Amino acid sequence: MFCPRCGTLLVLDKVKKVYRCPKCGYEAANISNKVVMSKSFQHNNKEKTIVLDSSSIASVPPTATLVKGHVRCPRCGHEEVYAWQLQTRAADEPPTTFYKCTKCGHTWREY
Ligand SMILES: [Zn+2]
Ligand SMILES: [Zn+2]
Repeated sequence: MFCPRCGTLLVLDKVKKVYRCPKCGYEAANISNKVVMSKSFQHNNKEKTIVLDSSSIASVPPTATLVKGHVRCPRCGHEEVYAWQLQTRAADEPPTTFYKCTKCGHTWREY
């Protein structure tokens, strides 16, 4: 953001919440819309997690539970896996259950 008068880079005045030119003293409009910006940013983050696909899952979320003896890893046959649910795609679809093998780390989803 540059000063429209002299072209100097504007400096943010944190007390008055304005951008001010250190050279000629020009003050830009109030930046009180900062709150709105951060809100829309959070919204985008939420949408990203919703459209998450099984191929992009690398780590087990903190909500995952350890399941023993009920689910078998299709890769190594181990019967101790982490299980968690994620809402994929549309919100009206049922959440998809994901599994991660504690032995070989193989991650898959239940269809
Ligand atoms: Zn200036
Ligand atoms: Zn496995």
